[in-house]
Amino acid sequence: MKVLIIGGGGREHAIAYKIAQSKKVSAIYCAPGNAGIEEYAVCVPIGVMEFDKLADFALKEGIDLTVVGPDDPLVGGIVDVFLERGLRIFGPKKDAAMIEGSKAFSKELMKKYHIPTASFEAFHTAKEAYNYLENCSYPIVLKADGLALGKGVLICNTKEEAADGVKSIMEDKQFGAAGDVLVIEEFMTGREVSILAFCDGTDIAVMTSAQDHKRALDNDEGLNTGGMGTFSPSPFYTQEINDYCMEYIYKPTMDAMKKEGRSFTGILFTGLMLTKDGPKVLEYNARFGDPETQVVLPRLKTDLIDIFESCIDGCLSKLKLEFEDNAAVCVVLASKGYPLAYEKGYRIDGLEELKKTEGVFAFHAGTKKENDAVVTAGGRVLGITATGSNLKEARRNAYKAAEVVKFANKYHRNDIGKAIDEA
Ligand code: ATP
Repeated sequence: MKVLIIGGGGREHAIAYKIAQSKKVSAIYCAPGNAGIEEYAVCVPIGVMEFDKLADFALKEGIDLTVVGPDDPLVGGIVDVFLERGLRIFGPKKDAAMIEGSKAFSKELMKKYHIPTASFEAFHTAKEAYNYLENCSYPIVLKADGLALGKGVLICNTKEEAADGVKSIMEDKQFGAAGDVLVIEEFMTGREVSILAFCDGTDIAVMTSAQDHKRALDNDEGLNTGGMGTFSPSPFYTQEINDYCMEYIYKPTMDAMKKEGRSFTGILFTGLMLTKDGPKVLEYNARFGDPETQVVLPRLKTDLIDIFESCIDGCLSKLKLEFEDNAAVCVVLASKGYPLAYEKGYRIDGLEELKKTEGVFAFHAGTKKENDAVVTAGGRVLGITATGSNLKEARRNAYKAAEVVKFANKYHRNDIGKAIDEA
């Protein structure tokens, strides 16, 4: 079987690594891919939003299955384009990817179907939003409706801060059309957990849990980033919590999407906050999380291709999802300055040495090949994942491995997985 992966970050590297383990797969292609993915796949220089070119390529090469990594092509309707052209593809159609593409849509869905989440109001004009701020209790959370590279959420401690936020999102259009509609939401507190799940339109199979670290600096300080590290499983996400979420969140979400005529096939990522009143949904994503995938997939025992096929064929309930009884920690190595300005083009050393250690992975995010060297090419450069028999061992292994890799201006957080000590 020939497989095409769409995307070119750490998440797609982890997907490529896992797909390469399947005996069913004879060739892997990745568009556009990156310097690390080349180890498993032929990288094809086509952009993730060039749907027709991607479909042309899939037809020409006789691709049997396409797997989509990032949100933009899913929300933009890549799955619909491939299906119209008779191509087999794993991911939600455009009308189902809306669960990530519009926060107003997902919040209305949760309200309609009584799925636990923060209370909220959605606004179509800045005037209405400003009026609403008059009678709020603070802090409050502002969310641009559409995709904003994970930056469209503002936590505002005062009315003045919130008014500035409304102005920048709705009037100055800091995030473009993503800010045409604004969601204003109750501020919640609690631990956050990321839950990825495979969905076949009717059934949902939940993967092992993970926890992300979004802020740039230690102790959750600094700006929000795409994610500076993850660990899996979360010791705070118990079987009891999982059972509750299955009954009140995951299954009801699948049923709600079906009832709305938007059956969801693909990966449903639920961002949860474990509040004192029980787990509540922070957000949904319609794809694998990045860097959650880098700690979840290395622990997956079941053949990933079998799972994708079961989802597409609507027979997920017949499949048993199995994970290793171990743990994984991913430390992101970034370019100093990220998520603001940073330099790139620096040679990366130590990657070959790292390959010699079992249970350690260097998932490439922002890298490229220059002559024979691999150089930095992005803010998040590599995700160094290590497994271990428990979380503490995995964390030790990940930080040890992170020291082996060297490049100028290397930066990483030193407290990934610190929460483990509180468990
Ligand atoms: P992502 O990059 O994960 O897609 P996003 O832009 O879609 O991010 P959210 O995940 O909805 O945004 O929110 C980002 C972060 O903001 C959350 O991880 C959480 O820390 C915080 N947050 C969001 N909503 C709330 C809330 N209601 N109360 C408290 N914190 C919140």
